Amino acid sequence: MKTKPTIRNYFRLIVPARSQNELFMRSAAAVFASQLDPTVEEINEIKAAVSEAVTNCIVHAYADVETLGTIEMTARIMSDNTVYIRIKDKGCGIADIERAKTPLFTTCAEGERAGLGFAVMESFMDKLRVFSKVGKGTTITMCKNLTERPT
Ligand code: ATP
Ligand code: MG
Repeated sequence: MKTKPTIRNYFRLIVPARSQNELFMRSAAAVFASQLDPTVEEINEIKAAVSEAVTNCIVHAYADVETLGTIEMTARIMSDNTVYIRIKDKGCGIADIERAKTPLFTTCAEGERAGLGFAVMESFMDKLRVFSKVGKGTTITMCKNLTERPT
């Protein structure tokens, strides 16, 4: 019988939604995931996905508020070599999640954004889930299995 994976390690980080923290968050996730001995490509994929999620919190979630909101990132390493990453904001939320996830869809003015953030997260990670409530915020969860390779 298959046993349920257990949590091997975890962290939680809360930062203000400042653009300087995009590099910090993606680096933190990459260093954490490196415990699983990933390939350079896998690490770069995790970095890119986290970067897109964090950038969305900075650019979209708090666009209409004057006070600086927060971004919370939690990550877990499971006994089956999967890394789970959750990125949460308490911003404006997304009214139509399916539409937002459509490649090239953006609510930003023409030319400013490509509308590819969710597409990047979806293609670089094994699973992506988006939970959002208008006026309450958005939570993204994604995971990637970093299967151990024989040395
Ligand atoms: P790009 O990521 O290519 O610079 P983009 O951010 O517009 O462009 P996506 O990341 O795919 O594209 O996001 C699509 C749309 O979903 C955004 O234009 C925005 O309207 C909405 N969105 C995404 N993340 C959030 C969030 N955290 N809070 C509020 N709205 C969001
Ligand atoms: Mg984006």
